[in-house]
Amino acid sequence: MGKLFVMDHPLIQDKVTKLRDINTSSKEFRELASEISMLIAYEATRDFPLRDVTVKTPVAETTSKKLAGKKVAVIPILRAGLGMVDGFMSLIPSAKIGHIGVYRDHDTLQPIEYYAKLPKDIEMRQVIVVDPMLATGNSSIHAINYLKKNNVKDIKFACIISCPEGVKALQEAHPDIDIFVAVIDEKLNEDAYIVPGLGDAGDRLFGTK
Ligand code: URA
Repeated sequence: MGKLFVMDHPLIQDKVTKLRDINTSSKEFRELASEISMLIAYEATRDFPLRDVTVKTPVAETTSKKLAGKKVAVIPILRAGLGMVDGFMSLIPSAKIGHIGVYRDHDTLQPIEYYAKLPKDIEMRQVIVVDPMLATGNSSIHAINYLKKNNVKDIKFACIISCPEGVKALQEAHPDIDIFVAVIDEKLNEDAYIVPGLGDAGDRLFGTK
């Protein structure tokens, strides 16, 4: 079973509280989502392998560490996942970005894929799928199915808020995936919104509705 990492860092918790607040503007919401994502990226990359290299400082030559693992691809699930990309890219600037567009049919709540564009060498990369809200899990399960069909082997999933239902669904569908989440809320409501959550992450990021 993949591991579930719940971020208990005080900076993340404080920023999530501001993110939830109905009075937080879209501008602040985007900034907070980006900062929280950067902090999640820090945790999600903790197991990246290193190799020894020689480096000459102004004082002496020494052995030091350099990243040695697979190249990375960050894959936001459109559209709310876009709000997490900057934060990840600020820590992993050489990562490529792919996009998977999935929306929830309002009646069936089932995921409908409408767009996918991945880096050419995606199967060689460590992929991190990002979506701020892991609610029913349908979109993330669908996106990860799509990546596995494209021969991607190493996948992690990062989100800001989830709920027990979403975590369970994703873990059952993809038991090999590590999940990184800032907070696990109480439940899903009958409209598949996370309670208390933060509302519609896409609308709050982009000022729509
Ligand atoms: N997507 C959102 O944006 N918010 C939720 O609460 C659930 C899914």
